[in-house]
Amino acid sequence: MRVSTGRASQSDSRMFTVVVDGYGVGKQRRAERQITVPFAQLQSLIQTIARRGGRIKAINESLVAEVLFEAPSPTAPESAPAPAPAAQAAPTNPAAMHHANVPVNLYKPKAPFVGTVIENYSLLAEGAIGRVNHITFDLAGGDPQLHYVEGQSIGIIPDGADSNGKPHKLRLYSIASTRHGDNMADDTVSLCVRQLQYEKEGQTIYGVCSTFLCDIEPGAKVKITGPVGKEMLLPADEEANVIMLATGTGIAPMRAYLRRMFEPTEREKNSWHFRGKAWLFMGSPTTANLLYDDDLNRYLSEFPENFRYTKAISREQNNAKGGRMYIQDRVLEHADEIFAMIEDSRTHVYMCGLRGMEPGIDDAMTAAASSKGLDWSQLRPQLKKAERWHVETY
Ligand SMILES: Cc1cc2nc3c(=O)[nH]c(=O)nc-3n(C[C@H](O)[C@H](O)[C@H](O)COP(=O)(O)OP(=O)(O)OC[C@H]3O[C@@H](n4cnc5c(N)ncnc54)[C@H](O)[C@@H]3O)c2cc1C
Repeated sequence: MRVSTGRASQSDSRMFTVVVDGYGVGKQRRAERQITVPFAQLQSLIQTIARRGGRIKAINESLVAEVLFEAPSPTAPESAPAPAPAAQAAPTNPAAMHHANVPVNLYKPKAPFVGTVIENYSLLAEGAIGRVNHITFDLAGGDPQLHYVEGQSIGIIPDGADSNGKPHKLRLYSIASTRHGDNMADDTVSLCVRQLQYEKEGQTIYGVCSTFLCDIEPGAKVKITGPVGKEMLLPADEEANVIMLATGTGIAPMRAYLRRMFEPTEREKNSWHFRGKAWLFMGSPTTANLLYDDDLNRYLSEFPENFRYTKAISREQNNAKGGRMYIQDRVLEHADEIFAMIEDSRTHVYMCGLRGMEPGIDDAMTAAASSKGLDWSQLRPQLKKAERWHVETY
């Protein structure tokens, strides 16, 4: 067994990833698994694995650290840090534990919750391109109560029928509010919706559901399903670092994260006091199209040590080559700092927006990694496996 626990003098707040096979139930038992636990739970995890016949292959302080730096030379298992006494029951993967209480599919398409529109307003400034609205629904009175956590999505079933006369299918939208809702009453949900509009054979086509939502009036009833999604959940660790890469309405989950981190009312109510670094890269065609910009600037002035906000305004700014400034250009510009953050096992990266943003980010990360002698195609799956690389594009 190879054990790399880093510097023995570090505090107990370290996290360790145990690589194990033959442990778990069903398919899990046949596959190699990686279980990440805080230092305090390491000893009892090792004991549980041994009791259940699993085979520990390695214990690493950080999987990604191994890719970024030379793996430390093999050490005997007994040189693992003297762990705290096992005071708890069988330990579980904190990520899995964190996901276990997340609500999913409380309302399904056959029996959706019917919410009421509370408000619907444009998020764009004068001169912006297109139409993007912030829409809030009242969720009160559901049985069960429709609740959710930051990073999830809900489904909306627009009124009316499709060209075959059948009811429209649901469309998913990332939730832009925290679990408490914009009014902190725990019974609303907000979305950030861009009206889909494109040209086809000389005609302007408008998206069915996005138009339905952008046009909807306060008081109207709307069929809502969900919540769904566990890909974009925030880490529970108050000292985690969170890098966010968003374009357009991809800001929706990031707005929820940032409210949870920096809104005074949220911090008070959650008793979750974010102390890590949050860095938002925001891509937008024009300044007038920036979404929630005033709130983000307020967080910047109130939490300068914890929040950083880097904008790529494609039609107003130029990249180093004189072309349009896209989010991937900003990623490249800050590659050293981003990679320094990723070396820290507490750093998570979140990407959200149109699917088209992915190749650009991938190219930027590939170039940035190779400038440090690293292979992004190897590193990215490692980050994904460690549940630190979160992508939701559409
Ligand atoms: C997990 C998830 C989260 C999402 N979050 C958000 C969000 O926060 N905000 C948001 O606004 N949207 C979000 N979306 C997208 C949303 O679900 C809808 O897809 C979007 O609003 C369009 O739906 P619509 O009914 O308006 O369009 P539709 O009427 O369903 O039209 C869409 C169809 O139009 C066609 N089409 C689209 N563009 C073109 C084009 N340029 N040329 C030719 N044909 C075209 C395609 O066939 C496409 O399938 C999310 C999607 C997912 C999967």
